[in-house]
Order: sequence, then structure tokens, then C-alpha cells
Amino acid sequence: MGIVVQKYGGTSVGNPERIKRVAKRIIECRKAGNMVVAVVSALGDTTDKLIELAKQITDSPPEREMDMLLSTGEQVSIALLAMAIKSMGWDVISLTGAQVGILTNNVHTKAKIIEVSCERLKKELNEGKIVIVAGFQGVTCDNEITTLGRGGSDTTAVAVAAALKADVCEIYTDVDGVYTTDPRMIPEARKLDVITYDEMLEMASLGAGVLQPRAVEFAKLNNVVLHVRSSFNYNEGTIVKGEKEVSDSGIHREKEMVVTGVAYDLNTARIGLFDVPDKPGIAKKIFTALAEKNINVDMIIQGATRNGRTDISFTVAEDDADKALEVMKEIVEEIGISGVSCDKDVAKVSIVGAGMITNPGVAAAMFQALADENINVQMISTSEIKVSCIINKKDTEKAVKSIHKKFNLEGN
Ligand code: ASP
Ligand code: MG
Repeated sequence: MGIVVQKYGGTSVGNPERIKRVAKRIIECRKAGNMVVAVVSALGDTTDKLIELAKQITDSPPEREMDMLLSTGEQVSIALLAMAIKSMGWDVISLTGAQVGILTNNVHTKAKIIEVSCERLKKELNEGKIVIVAGFQGVTCDNEITTLGRGGSDTTAVAVAAALKADVCEIYTDVDGVYTTDPRMIPEARKLDVITYDEMLEMASLGAGVLQPRAVEFAKLNNVVLHVRSSFNYNEGTIVKGEKEVSDSGIHREKEMVVTGVAYDLNTARIGLFDVPDKPGIAKKIFTALAEKNINVDMIIQGATRNGRTDISFTVAEDDADKALEVMKEIVEEIGISGVSCDKDVAKVSIVGAGMITNPGVAAAMFQALADENINVQMISTSEIKVSCIINKKDTEKAVKSIHKKFNLEGN
């Protein structure tokens, strides 16, 4: 008997009808001769509503109590799903994170999984039961309830799959898989058959919200093959794994494969520092001040030096822009910088692809696509598997469309 771990997101179990449909789907997998563990999220937007509720009580709820509150969402869905399966005549048991033994550290509201114990899971599976596990939650060694950060049920599923050495971890969602770009923005976006962990990580952290980045990291670390697919149909979804297969001809199966996808991120802002003294220790001062305030910096560019002075610009999340500007204003005088600017009207567009590093001209083709649309590139950064550009926010859709077309990513 194979072991299949399935994860159903909030939309998939959004109402009683959908819960019953998910129950049938789990039973089908069991009937096919598999041992099945299903990890579920809270119904619909329950977690958002619980957060809203807490805010109505206080602006700063204690994080321990937040976890106590948020973990209830998943407890509702596992109970209802188990009832649905039982009513269809199958043996089933629902378990909370603590009952499974999902051990986490004690960082409330964004805890990390340390270990998943298999004992209880295996015992129930060996008795022939379908096991339903509450996603997004765990327990510390002091018996405190924790949650794993938004979207954390993905990580629960991957961790359970890794612990059980499952044959596959199926992530059921409301879209057909991972796309070459956001299909809501670009209808020509194509579903990918396969994507590597590294590509998926870039796509996920660049704002393609199908999978929690930490879940992808965990899958990569433990070599868990993921299958991202829709719970609303039976189409094959997207396989996320270590490496794509090479077909007989030696050419990757996906069309050309140099660029796998185009991601964009609207939550970005650019801070500019003018006339910065060009001498040792200055960059350290600037970026230490930001780090001390827990502000994450993404791209950094330092211009050419004129008369011992230079310009530096960097990007931060738009939510952090005001805080970053404040921090900079505090140090301009001390450092002797003549001006600071902040532009929130920017976006980051990126191409991602594991085949990029061995193919010359990929970045040039991206810049061509932007130039064709008369879009100005404000900043550029590159890594082995991505090229990112900062552009004016209003040009985002035009840019993504043009780049997507340039690399022939449209549906076939
Ligand atoms: N219910 C949690 C959330 O909304 C966890 C999850 O859905 O993965 O973030
Ligand atoms: Mg999700």
C-alpha cells in the first residue's frame, strides 16, 4: 500500500457541500488502495475573520493567545471532514497538530517545525483508518499550541509527507497548478507540467501565492515530490521536484525551458540616497541601521563615484517604506548625505528559470521586451536563476505581458 498525503486549502473546504466533495475525493484515493492522510486548512476565510476579531478586542493581542485563537479554525474543519467521511461509511479519525506530535519551536504565530512523530499516524493508518490532520498548527515541548505563519498548512502537509516517507504530497487548491505567470492578469498564462524547487521558491517569494515558501524549502530539503492541483477537477496539476527530466533528444520537455515563468511583486518601494560620501564604513552604517529595525532590504545599487560622492538606492517591501525612510532621516546628518527620496510607485518584475545561467542573452531579451513597450528600467538585479527589474508600478501589466510573450510562454 502506498502512502498519499493530501492537503486541502480553505477554499476547497469552504462550505458543507465542498467538505462533502473533499470527503469523496479522499475516499476515492483510499479505495484505490492507498493509505491516506489529509491535512486541511480552516474553512474559507476563517483565519482572516479570527484575526479581525482579535483586533476588535485589542491592538496588540499576546501572540500565545493569537495561536490559541487561530488554531481553532483548523480544528473545526478536521472535525467536519471526519464526520463527512464517517457518514459515507469509512473509518476515519481527526487529529490536532498536538495529537499527531508536530513539535515546533516556541516562536508563536510563526513557529518552525522541529519534528513530526510518526507513531500515532502509523498506528491509525495500520488500523485501516483515514487520518485527517489539522494544518498550520503544532505544539512546543512545553505543550503550548503554536501556528506556523499564514499559509502554514502547506508546510504541515510537506512535513507529514516527509516523516511518513509518503509516495506523493498532493496540494489541492482552487487553481489547476503553477502557471507561467499570474493567470488573473495574463489570460494566456500556461500551466506548467513541472517546476523545480528552486524555481518554485523564486516564484513563491516573488509573489506567486500558490505555495508557502517555507513548504517548498522543506520539500527541497527532504526531497518530497509535490503535486499542486485543483480540488475542483481531475486535471493533472504541476509537479514540483528537484530536477526536470531530460527527454530522449536531450532537450528539456517543457518548451525551451530557459525561462519558466514571469513573476511580479507590487509590494515594493525604492529608497534613494543622494550624494553619499564614498568611503569605508558608510554602507555598513546605512544597512545596519535598517537591520536593527528589522527591515529587510532586497535590491541595492551604488552608482559611479564623482568627487568622492556617490548615490545609493535600495528596495524594501512597501509596508516597510515609511519606517525605512524614518531610519534614513535619522542618519543622513551623521553620515553627511544630502538627500533621501522614497518612491512607492514601483513594482518588481522578474523572470525565473533554471536554464538561464547557461544561456546568454536572456537578460537582454527581457530588457528588449521592456524597451518594446517603452518601459524604463530603474534597477536591475540578477541571480543564477532570475533577473529582476524595478519599473513604474503602472507599467506592471504591460511589462509582464510583453516579457511573457517574448519568451514564448503562452498556452499551446
Ligand atoms: N488557515 C491558515 C491561513 O489562512 C493556514 C493555511 O490556510 O494554510 O493562513
Ligand atoms: Mg494557501
